[in-house]
Amino acid sequence: MANALITGILGQDGPYLAKLLLEKNYKVYGMIRRYSTPQFDNLDYLGITNKIEYIEGDLTDDASLLNIIKNVRPQEVYNLAAQSFVGSSWEQAKLTTEINAVGVLNLLSAIKLFSPTSKFYQASTSEMFGLGNDNGYQDENTPFHPRSPYGISKVYAHWMTVNFRESYGMFACSGILFNHESPIRGIQFVTRKISDGVAKIKVGLAKDLLLGDLEPKRDWGFAGDYVEAMYKMLQQEKPEDFVVATGETHTVKEFVELAFKTAGIDNWQSYVKSDPRFKRPAEVPHLQGKSDKAQKALGWKPKTPFPDLVKMMVEADIKRYQDKNK
Ligand code: NDP
Ligand code: GDP
Repeated sequence: MANALITGILGQDGPYLAKLLLEKNYKVYGMIRRYSTPQFDNLDYLGITNKIEYIEGDLTDDASLLNIIKNVRPQEVYNLAAQSFVGSSWEQAKLTTEINAVGVLNLLSAIKLFSPTSKFYQASTSEMFGLGNDNGYQDENTPFHPRSPYGISKVYAHWMTVNFRESYGMFACSGILFNHESPIRGIQFVTRKISDGVAKIKVGLAKDLLLGDLEPKRDWGFAGDYVEAMYKMLQQEKPEDFVVATGETHTVKEFVELAFKTAGIDNWQSYVKSDPRFKRPAEVPHLQGKSDKAQKALGWKPKTPFPDLVKMMVEADIKRYQDKNK
């Protein structure tokens, strides 16, 4: 039986990836931090909480990683753990760097020492491109120009992954994923904040929705589709880096309009209020990925159109509130 270690198992992507690997008969180890009360809600949502073996560890604690890698010797390691919220990365720049940059060095070093044949996946991000774009889109050849401590930390981790591959011949890949969302997306991210806010307005629990800049454009896909690309990258003969994206881009405003429409609420303008607290010190105005390499080499394709994604998220949040009231 193949085995895999997933860091960040309690987040959004961890549960979708774990579900995919369980369906392929993997034994899945999930690394979690030490909590008073761990939150298994996202794994519960996908019905797989009891199918995973949990191990305590933290990306910033290198001894914990050395122990895990030594004891498990996973065939595949998916490093999804991160301080993943761009907005908080200015206020907690050092912590973001310790987890997202140095943490990845810690993990790669542990693998090199105790399990050098493990295949390694690093969760890189379109935030690394930031202002960089070629004719309006970004692909594997686009230069990085990150705009936040988050983006910068991920550039370090990206190059460290490439460097372990080039220096030590390790099977280390980096998936440069554009924004991907789902009903279990973290509540601070704009898509989920919108779907949750619309649901609250729909059931009468809120009167307005406070947002920052509505003009930035993002290439939003469905997390369930994107974890398939992660898996496929580690099944290749050679380790390589891939951009994973839908190729479509939409403004935050378009997401808002469609979310309200999906909930059957007219006139979104009367509910959405601008709040400067949610504006960024430096913005990434336009992300639009070109995933031709992944489509050709991995046979991967995004399956979920933008309107279906918005609908899935809004309906799930409305259902959550309706179920609570039963
Ligand atoms: P989430 O924020 O939902 O999940 C991240 C997980 O990392 C959380 O479960 C968190 O644990 C864990 N974590 C944080 N710090 C540490 C630490 N020091 N040690 C161990 N675990 C830690 O992120 P997503 O699932 O959305 O994203 C997965 C990865 O993909 C992240 O690396 C993210 O940066 C990257 N990415 C995501 C994109 C997206 O659109 N979703 C786009 C591109 C890249 P806890 O529950 O304890 O907080
Ligand atoms: P990001 O692309 O990783 O930063 O993902 P987010 O979902 O956090 O933000 C996407 C875009 O939405 C960014 O350009 C934000 O500036 C913009 N945005 C506008 N209002 C908000 C808000 O209230 N919360 C968040 N998180 N983002 C917002």
